[in-house]
Order: sequence, then structure tokens, then C-alpha cells
Amino acid sequence: MIRHDDALAIVLEHTPTLEAVDVDIVEAEGAVLAEDVASDVDLPPFDKSAMDGYAVRAADVASTPVELDVIEEIRAGVAPTKRIEAGTCAKIMTGAPVPAGADAVVMVENTEPASGGRVRIVRADPAHADICARGEDVARGATVLEAGHPVRRQEVGLLASVGRRRVRVHRRPSVAVLATGDELVDIEETPGPGQIRDANSWSLLASCRRAGVTADHLGVARDTEADLRAKIAEGLRRDVLLVSGGVSMGDWDLVPGIFREAGVTTHFETVAMKPGKPTVFATRGRRVIFGLPGNPVSTLVAFRLFVWPAVRKMMGHPLPSPPPLAAMLVSPLRVGGRRTRFAPVTLRWEDAGYVAEPVPTHGSADLVAFCRANALAVLEPGAHEAGSRVPAVTLDL
Ligand code: AMP
Ligand code: MG
Repeated sequence: MIRHDDALAIVLEHTPTLEAVDVDIVEAEGAVLAEDVASDVDLPPFDKSAMDGYAVRAADVASTPVELDVIEEIRAGVAPTKRIEAGTCAKIMTGAPVPAGADAVVMVENTEPASGGRVRIVRADPAHADICARGEDVARGATVLEAGHPVRRQEVGLLASVGRRRVRVHRRPSVAVLATGDELVDIEETPGPGQIRDANSWSLLASCRRAGVTADHLGVARDTEADLRAKIAEGLRRDVLLVSGGVSMGDWDLVPGIFREAGVTTHFETVAMKPGKPTVFATRGRRVIFGLPGNPVSTLVAFRLFVWPAVRKMMGHPLPSPPPLAAMLVSPLRVGGRRTRFAPVTLRWEDAGYVAEPVPTHGSADLVAFCRANALAVLEPGAHEAGSRVPAVTLDL
């Protein structure tokens, strides 16, 4: 048995980052840049008004109130035609180009209409010119985003601003999800004696979707060598194969044997954690294979701790597994045995930090309790007093 952090290190060490592909920028959301991106324009491209108001010479409004002649009205998208001379100003809208001669904008709230085509500047703030200067965000030709930068919503907007409709990102892995077990029935069926509905196929498919990758469902393999062999062979055509169940110590837990038969290299088969002990990690070439424990909570905990970071590594994330949060335990917890406990908790903000309240649970099959949790407290064996600080891994990604 190895520690969960050593297991994660092994997973990341053996998981490749996938090659680059060109995609539409909206599709790139959730992926990671595989190129440096330079701007083809100054941003902003011209001196731009930050306010609806009047473009003025700052010297003219050094003492207020003062009246100025309004010589032009400039709206967004239209170039000014006149120069602002002493005693004059132009009415200007947000986003419109600042006319020559003006070096400040007074917002409309600080003005009053005056007679004879004039405006009365009631007050002006010398500390705020309210002009976005050409190139102040980035100069044309400069790098705005570097390879390895994750594409979020804001990067999509920036990519569009610098003239990019397509961008190079690391390819997302293809994933196959396979549930195993003679006892499993489909959602539409009412379980008969000894049967349960397959939960893991669906929770794993949803987990993949949340991680930004689409997964194919290979269905349910029965606990026979022939069925497992065929479906695992199909799954090994993807970048990632997730098999749930069949990895523990029972007589019908055949998955690790079929993995070996398929020529994979197994890196670990058990992790000193609860839940999630029978977690298998293997590779074949550049493909990664996980045997996840069958219990529905265990499968999701193992996905969160190992599969999610692996998928992120494949997609080129510089930080595949972001650090946990620090939280204060609300009630004491004793962890017996020698495995690290990943205890379901509700994490909330109180006073000046996170507090973690343990969720009562019947264990690794108790999806009902798990649905009440939004994080996992990471507890080493021993006694944890109320008020002690513990790492917490968020489940709400
Ligand atoms: P196993 O690892 O195959 O021994 O499964 C451990 C436990 O998880 C057993 O109680 C199984 O019935 C249950 N289990 C296995 N696969 C699934 C699944 N896809 N959905 C729900 N429960 C499952
Ligand atoms: Mg089974």
C-alpha cells in the first residue's frame, strides 16, 4: 500500500501531456494553450473615454465650476473631427475616441447643461482623467498569453480582442467508462433480489464532462473473463480507460488480472486511503488506465484524487492538482487504522476562514450522505480535535 500523495505523484509521472491541436476559441474554454499568443493591435487601440461625459483640457477644469463651449458630440465607433482648444470641450460617450487636445473626461454626473451650446462643469477630479490610454493594457506585437495558460472565459474574450478565432491548445483525451458487476442493472430496471442499479457509469461520465472531456460509455461488463477481456480491449483504444468495480479482493474481482493479460504496466493496486483502497493505476504506452473501486463514493473519491489530475495533466495544466484548502474541524473525529481518511464534510466560510463539518455517513456506498458533502477532509490516522486545522479537498469544481 502506498500513500495517496505518493500515488498521485506516480499517476502524474506516468501521464503524458497530449499534443497540440487547433480549435475554435469557444471550444478552447477549459483547455490549455499550447502556443504563445501575441496581440495584433494596441489594447486599447486608441485613447478611449472611460465615461459618458465631456472631453476637456484638464487645465480648463482645474478650478470649478466653469462653463465650456461644446464643439462636437463623439459617440463610440466615430472618429472626432475637431481639436479641443482652450475653453472648449466635446460631448463624449463611453468607448468613443478622445479628441486631440483633450486630456481628461469629466463624467456627465459632474456636469449641468448651460445655455448657448455650453456645459457647466460642476466638479472635476484631477486624480481621474477617465481616459484609457492607447496600448496601456498591451502593446501591439507583445505576448498577451503564454503557452501553458488555461483558457477560461476571460481568455476567450482576450483571444477575440487580439484577432484570434482559432488557437492552439493541448488535445483533450478520449475517455472510455466501463462498469463491471453481475449485480448491476440499468436505470430503467427495478432491481431484483441481490441487484442494484449501476450508479458509477453515470457519475463517472458526469465527472468526465465536469473535467472538460467527453467520455464514451462501454456499458456494463459481467464478471466473466470473456466479457471483461472484450470490453477492456475496446476501452484500451482510448487515451484513458476508467473501469469501476472488480478491483478488490473478492473471487470475482477479475479486473487486475485482465489488465495484466492486456499487457499494461501496473504502477499500483492499493492506496492507503479510506475510502478508495483498491485503486489500480496502469499504463500502456501513452494510455492511462484506472481500476476504480466499485463502491459509488469510493469511485468518485478516487476520480477526484487521481483521475481528475491525470486528465488535467494530459490537457497541459501547469498545476494538475491544485492544493487543498485549510479548514477548521467543527467536531472531533477519530481515525482508526493506518489509512488516510477522506471524510465527507460541508465546508463553509465562518468569521475569517473555512470550517469543515463532518457529514454523518454509513461509508463508501452511502451516496446519500456524500451528496450532502461539498468537500473531503483529509485526516491522517489518530485523533483530530474540534478546532484543529485540516486540509480539505473541494468537490465543487
Ligand atoms: P467491487 O469492487 O466490484 O467488489 O464492488 C464493490 C461494491 O460496489 C459492491 O457492493 C458493488 O455492488 C458496488 N458497485 C460496483 N459497481 C457499481 C456500480 N457501477 N454502481 C453502483 N455500485 C457498484
Ligand atoms: Mg464487482
